[in-house]
Amino acid sequence: MAASLWGAAVVVPACGRRQRRNRPRCDPPLVSDTAHPLLPAATPLLRRGVDSLQIGGVDSTDGLLVTPHPDGLAGLLRGLDGRRVQRAVLADAARQGLDPGAVSAVLDGLRATRVLVDVDAADLVASDAGPAAAARRAAEAPPAGGWRARRSAVVLVEGATRVGTPLAAVLAASGVGRVSVRDSAVVSAGDAVVGGATAADEGRPRSLAAADAVRRASPLTDLRPVPEGTRPDLVVLARPWAASDPAAAAWARAGVPHLVATVRGATGVVGPLVVPGVTSCLRCADLHRRDADPRWPHLAAQLTATEPPPSGATVTCLLTAVTAAVQVLAYLDGDAAPVTLDATLDIAPPDLVPRRRPWPSHPDCGCVRRVDEATGDNGP
Ligand SMILES: [Zn+2]
Repeated sequence: MAASLWGAAVVVPACGRRQRRNRPRCDPPLVSDTAHPLLPAATPLLRRGVDSLQIGGVDSTDGLLVTPHPDGLAGLLRGLDGRRVQRAVLADAARQGLDPGAVSAVLDGLRATRVLVDVDAADLVASDAGPAAAARRAAEAPPAGGWRARRSAVVLVEGATRVGTPLAAVLAASGVGRVSVRDSAVVSAGDAVVGGATAADEGRPRSLAAADAVRRASPLTDLRPVPEGTRPDLVVLARPWAASDPAAAAWARAGVPHLVATVRGATGVVGPLVVPGVTSCLRCADLHRRDADPRWPHLAAQLTATEPPPSGATVTCLLTAVTAAVQVLAYLDGDAAPVTLDATLDIAPPDLVPRRRPWPSHPDCGCVRRVDEATGDNGP
C-alpha cells in the first residue's frame, strides 16, 4: 500500500514516549465525503531527525510521527484550514506529487489522535463571513457541528456583574450567535473588571456597558434583547443570590435550562445547571439548605431582597466566568454531560481549584417526578 512508502505513523503520546503503532489503513475511521479537515494553525509541525515529521504531541495531547515523510507534506498539512473537502485536499496532494492514499492515512492518524478536526459543511455557512471574522474564529475549533449549534443559540445573561459581563463576552467570542445581558442598574466603580465594564462606564446603564464589552470581544454577535415570551436556549443567573430568588423559578416553570454563575463574597460558584424536569432544580438546593438550617428561608429572603455590592477578586471573577462558559458551551454543543448537572463547582481562594459539590434532587420538591408523570413514565 502506498502509505508503506512513508513507513508507519507512530502516535506520540502526551508524556513523550512512543506508545503504540498506529495503523490507520487497517481500520480507518469513517470519514464522510463532505468532511472538511482542519488542522488548527497553532499545531506544531516539527522536524524530528533527518526524515521524521512530528505533528503535535508536545503538550498534554497526543501527536503523530510520520517517518519518513515526503517533501510537501508539511505544506499540505498547514493548508488544512477546514475550507476544502477531503476529496479536494487529496486531489491537491496528487497534483503536488504526493500519494493520496498515504495522505489519507496520515489524516486518519491525526483524526485518531484528535489533532485534526472535521468541520461540518454547514458550520462553514454558519460561521461569520469576512477574513477578520474568520481569523478570530480560527482558533476556536468547536467539535463538528459545534459552530452551527453555537451560531443559532440564544443565551440570556441575567446580571451585568463582574462575572456576567465577561462571561457574555467569552460566549460571544466562542461563537454563540445571540448573547443578551439583562440588567436595569447602572455601573458603579466596583463593577469594572477585565473583559467587562470599564472604569469609563461608571454611571452608564449596566446593560449598555455589557453590550459594549461583548461587542469588543465579538463585533458581529447579535446583542438584541430577548423579547418577552421568547424562550432563550439557556439563561445564566449571574447575581450573587439569584439561585434562591423565587423569580428564578419562572425559568424552571417555562422549561428553560438555566445555570448559576456568580461570586458570593470571595468564592465563585458555577452551577447547578438546571435542565427542568431532568436534573435537580434550584428549589431542590434550597430545600437541602433548609434541611441543614430550618431558618434558611428567612435568611434567603434577606439575601435576595437587595443586590450586594460587587465582590470577588478579578482572578476569581474571571475564572468563574470562564468555568461557567465551559458549562454553557458543553450544553450547547451537546458533546458532553456538563459537570454542573446536579452539582456546583465552588472556586474558593487561595488556590481557586474548582471543587465539585453534589446537589441531588430533593424528595420534597418533585420537580423531576412531575415531568415523569407528564410523560407517563413513572420510573422506578
Ligand atoms: Zn427540584
